[in-house]
Amino acid sequence: MTDHKPKIDAGWNFDNSYAELPDLMYTRQEPVPVRSPRIIAFNRPLAESLGLNVEALQTDEGAAVFAGNKIPPGADPLAQAYAGHQFGHFTMLGDGRAVLLGEQITPKGKRMDVQLKGSGRTPYSRGGDGRAAIGPMLREYIISEAMHALGIPTTRSLAVVTTGQPVTRERELQGAVLVRVASSHLRVGTFQYARGAGSTDNLRTLADYTLHRHYPEARPGEDGNRYLLLLQEVIKRQAALIAKWQLVGFIHGVMNTDNMTLSGETIDYGPCAFMDAFDPATVFSSIDSQGRYAYGNQPYIAAWNLTRLAEALLPLFHEDEEEAVKLAEDALAQFSGLFHNYWLAGMRAKLGLFQEEEQDEVLIRELLEIMQKQGADFTNTFRALTLNQPERTALVGTAEFDSWYAQWQERLGRQQETEKEAKELMRTSNPAVIPRNHRVEEALEAAEQGDFSVMERLLGVLAKPYAYSPEQEEYASVPEQSCAYRTYCGT
Ligand code: AMP
Ligand code: MG
Repeated sequence: MTDHKPKIDAGWNFDNSYAELPDLMYTRQEPVPVRSPRIIAFNRPLAESLGLNVEALQTDEGAAVFAGNKIPPGADPLAQAYAGHQFGHFTMLGDGRAVLLGEQITPKGKRMDVQLKGSGRTPYSRGGDGRAAIGPMLREYIISEAMHALGIPTTRSLAVVTTGQPVTRERELQGAVLVRVASSHLRVGTFQYARGAGSTDNLRTLADYTLHRHYPEARPGEDGNRYLLLLQEVIKRQAALIAKWQLVGFIHGVMNTDNMTLSGETIDYGPCAFMDAFDPATVFSSIDSQGRYAYGNQPYIAAWNLTRLAEALLPLFHEDEEEAVKLAEDALAQFSGLFHNYWLAGMRAKLGLFQEEEQDEVLIRELLEIMQKQGADFTNTFRALTLNQPERTALVGTAEFDSWYAQWQERLGRQQETEKEAKELMRTSNPAVIPRNHRVEEALEAAEQGDFSVMERLLGVLAKPYAYSPEQEEYASVPEQSCAYRTYCGT
């Protein structure tokens, strides 16, 4: 039985605006209770920033809420409807194994979705069991928190609980629920769904809602076209986001349109990973046999997904379809330039460059080419340059790199800023640690055996990626066989 009155005031402060959208956008759905919830990961700083009572939540009561066995006061659980292009094919989807508990209003007045992922079947489950396994949920917890610490907009992870019930995948695994926190779960696919399933009024309501929630400050141009403004703002945020991914070597792995947010946060950590050896063709998802979502393709896929968003919004841009298409095309044409500028600014910072010089991009591309040719580790190359230890790159001694290095030194010498200032910029732009695949796997294996200490140490190190502390040294090593790594979509 679901008890609607938890005993301790945990600080829940829900206000559920999504539930006021047209009915077709969701289905009210309670999480399906589980046998024996147990908290195995809990994010104290995040809980505090949400205004939640940390002590009250680290209890059986808290575990029951996180597992979906108890509904916290003020929550209004629902499963969201959405559609999406998955690997290029359009499908009706929706929260098949998640429920939105509600929107927590933080002490600073921010509105944050609190979602349970792995919380049981919903009307959108299709053939799925509505559940999730411990490994993928902890994986999302670790990587999303690492992304946050890297300064990359992302959904976050408040907790993981095990359910005490097995889930059947390739083998039997422990079931788990992830408590995900996001500035919203509005996706490109949410708009595709509204366009397909609803009226133009429904679509307009959703667009107004999104503008109000994520872009309250944005003002339309002279034409006063606020829906075009929505597209333009999402384009800007996604261009900034994808540039940040590229700059740390993050590969999302499943950039389907249902996995791209309107807020500009990274969402849905399935078969994602950080690249070791620099190679734009790197793919991590075993089901992505075409390389659609390879590292080097991410900006193009983002533009493709944004084109799907524009298509969904077309009727709001202009009553004349031809005019509407033209407006959309003009907005979409901005993406590549925006992305390139963000990326170039980020790469300059990675090399300690403050001002812009015409030839900077050539210098940057030359380095990347040498890295690719030599199979140099992406993170560790920039880390070694930051530490002033080029000998640690394994590139040193090759004529190409030595000549590049001399050019770079010359370029640094031409700027007014001191060497110390340049190094400081590099330190804050080049992470000393990233969640290396072998480290994440090692933590997950131990956790599956009931030992959470490996994961906790890893989380501690990943929480300060720019610290360059001695304890991070061992987390920088790259395994020999890293190129064979594949994550599987059996999430
Ligand atoms: P994802 O690959 O996690 O982005 O999910 C794609 C779609 O499949 C979403 O609609 C999910 O809700 C749904 N889905 C994924 N796993 C399950 C599951 N075990 N049971 C039901 N639906 C699922
Ligand atoms: Mg998804």
